[in-house]
This record gives sequence, structure tokens and C-alpha cells, in this order.
Amino acid sequence: MGAAEAVTDALRELHRRFAGLRDGQLADYIPPLALADPGAFGLALISMDGHRYSTGDADALFTLQSVSKPFVYALALSVLGLDEVGRWVNAEPSGEAFNAISLEPVTGRPDNAMVNAGAIVTTALIPDTPDAPRFGRILDCLSRFAGRRLDVDEQVYASEALTGDRNRALAYLIRSAGPLPVDPVAAVETYFRQCAVRVTTLDLAAMAATLAHGGVNPLTGDAVVPEPVAAQVLAVMATCGMYDTSGDWLLRVGLPAKSGVSGGLIAAGPARFGLAAYSPLLDPTGTSVRGRAALGALSERLGLHLMHNPALAGSTVTLVATADEPSAAPAVSRGSAGRERVAAVAAQGALDFTAAERVLYALDEARPRETGAVVLDLRRVTAVDTVARAMLRSGLGRLAEDGVRTAVADPADRLALLPGTAEQGGHPAVRPFPSREEAAAWCVSGPAG
Ligand code: GLN
Repeated sequence: MGAAEAVTDALRELHRRFAGLRDGQLADYIPPLALADPGAFGLALISMDGHRYSTGDADALFTLQSVSKPFVYALALSVLGLDEVGRWVNAEPSGEAFNAISLEPVTGRPDNAMVNAGAIVTTALIPDTPDAPRFGRILDCLSRFAGRRLDVDEQVYASEALTGDRNRALAYLIRSAGPLPVDPVAAVETYFRQCAVRVTTLDLAAMAATLAHGGVNPLTGDAVVPEPVAAQVLAVMATCGMYDTSGDWLLRVGLPAKSGVSGGLIAAGPARFGLAAYSPLLDPTGTSVRGRAALGALSERLGLHLMHNPALAGSTVTLVATADEPSAAPAVSRGSAGRERVAAVAAQGALDFTAAERVLYALDEARPRETGAVVLDLRRVTAVDTVARAMLRSGLGRLAEDGVRTAVADPADRLALLPGTAEQGGHPAVRPFPSREEAAAWCVSGPAG
């Protein structure tokens, strides 16, 4: 019972709010799915630090069904790359049901990897070799996304293999239409197996969190897929993951998501959370009724909508001061002639493009009108990404070229300014120092020696 219990409380509150929803139907075209408990309802959230929160039936087992699609797509992208996968599976929203004949006229290429046609092709693209059979690769990959060894519900698999004529028909249509180098008809059995992999709501939250976390499972630290692949998968989930309600979902909920006919639903808040719901009563599009309601409300409550501006926090730049404000820039007055004016800007946290822009703007605002000196204090910065590093180096270099004495308090050398440490080499006129005092002292010490 700690402060973070408040997060579980948010889940509990949504659970209470939507547990009473009785709308929807159990899927029955795969007969064992109709045996699910219609009252089952689990919710889970996993943070980028791997903190796990859940409520309700979050440990109940059910089969992945279509929630497997984005993860197998991730595997295909990791193995073959976007261009090769894109030759065989498009990335256009179909606006159609999950089992529609969503094939491009002439080429027979499926619209996207989230509808069955595209998922079957995606599965077929996974290499199948004697030492690493296709399904083994898929199960390994799904397990790494979940952070534990998953298995197959053989009864659900056998049942879909018996009744899955529509999917088999889709595979035959694809084979008849196109020059696909692999056999989708043979791969359909593997597709049925991946759909029958057993998970819990917490597993799903871990899988979604791994996508949200750039492909690194936040529970195990395992780099399951490369970061660009995670971003590509989230993009296709955002536009296609909810089939013919994808547009409305993106509009109202604003998160990449994927639903499955056993009642599982995932949503990913990139760099924030993996979310999952399980409740088997489905709406007419094959999405969990309670899941849709709960994750929609959660996104709204936590402000997760992607188009909602998350980053207006003013905390990147924590100090802007000049020597005229000695309390804010105490080191500057010490040992100086008192006439030299030095501006100080301090930043904190992780710096990306947006943060770098703020820092550079603050330097311009703070910098003395006549030539003077600036100190950028990065001691409380925890990370600088490559874009921000290049921008800061270039911006500071411009100041130096304008005749401004420019120093950085950068004990961790995050800007890679120390001679010999930067791949580009340090900017000769921008000097890094271990402390703000030393940086400011250099600024007022007269011409560079
Ligand atoms: N195995 C199911 C099918 O192919 C998955 C569909 C779904 O979850 N939407 O029909």
C-alpha cells in the first residue's frame, strides 16, 4: 500500500464503472471461445519502468487471436525490413471488417497486416528453416514481448483449424492473385496457432508496453525488436488496428491499439504505458465492449491522446540568469572585473529536439546584447539524444562564431565536446567544464589563452 496504489485505484474505478456493461456477444465461430465467462473483466497497465498495475481478472488466461498480429508483423519487419514486407503487405486502412477480402485489385496484396488477409501473409513471410521452424520463431518472439514463456491452447487451435475455412479461402485467393514467394495456404495453420497462444491481461500489457518502450521489454530489459520496428508497428496499429473503427478510435482515444475476438484489447501510449483489457463480450466489429469503453476512458483520464500536446511542461529550462542577478548566477561575479556580463541557462531532464529548441531560444533571450558570455549548465541533464546533441553543438557554435564566449558546464560530456571524444570533434570555441563556477570563471577571464 503505497502512493502508487493511486494508479491501481484508477484502474479499479474504471473496472467498477464498466463491469456492469452487459452488451455484446461472445465469439462463437471458433466454438471454444463461446465457452468464455461473459463476466470476466481484467485491466492492466505497465509503465516504462516496468511497474505493473492491474485489477479484476488480470490473471485469467485467454487466447491472443488478432492481438498476435502486430507482434508477428514486428517479427517480420525485424527479419525482412519495411521495404521487403511492404512489397507483400500494404499499410493502408481497409475500413473493412477483420475477415474481409481486403486485397488490392490486380496485385492481390492485402491492405494491411492487422486484417486477417495481411496477417496470414505476414505469418507466411516469417522464415521457416529446419533449425528454426516458423512457429517456433513466432512463439519465441511473442514470449519475449510478454516477458515469460507462453504456450498454445491446443483446443482452441484445433477448433479454428477445423472451422477456419474463411481464412483458408483468403489464403487461396492471395495465392491465386499474386507472386508471393511463400505459400500462404501452408502458413494458415501457423496463423491459427499464433492466434491460439495463451496470455493474461498482464501479459498483454507487457507486450503493449514493449512496443511503447521502443521494442525493449520494460520488465526484462530484453530488446525484442529494434526501435524503428516498434515505431512502425505502432503506426500501423494506430491507422488499422481497430479495423473499420480505426478512424473513430484514433479520433476519440488517440492511441495505437489492437483487438482480438477472444476479448483481448491492447493500447500503447508511446514512451508512457502499455495498456490492456480483457472481457469477452464483443461489439459487432469484434472488439471487447468493456475493453473499448475502459481503455477509451483511461486514455482520456490520463491524457494519453497522441495528438494532445504532452510536452508543454516548462521544466526543460530551469534557470535563466545574468550577472545582474547575482543570486541566480552567483559564480559569475566572483573574480570578474564586474563589467563583463555573463548569462547562465540551466536545463534538466532528457533533451530531445523540442527541449533543445527551448534551450537554444533561452540562450538567445538571456545572452547580453553586446558581445558577452553565456554558460549553459547541463549538470542536471540526464540524457541528450543525437538530434538534440547536434542542435546544441551547432547552436553553441554559432554563438561562439558571433563572438560570444560560450562555455558549458557538462561534467558528463553529454555534448561530446571534449577533444577526442566526439565523432565530429569538439567545437574549438565552445568549452566544456566540470562545473558552472569554472565555466563562468573562464567566461570572464579575458581572451582565450
Ligand atoms: N483467429 C481469428 C480469425 O482469424 C482472429 C480474428 C480476430 O481476433 N479478429 O478469425
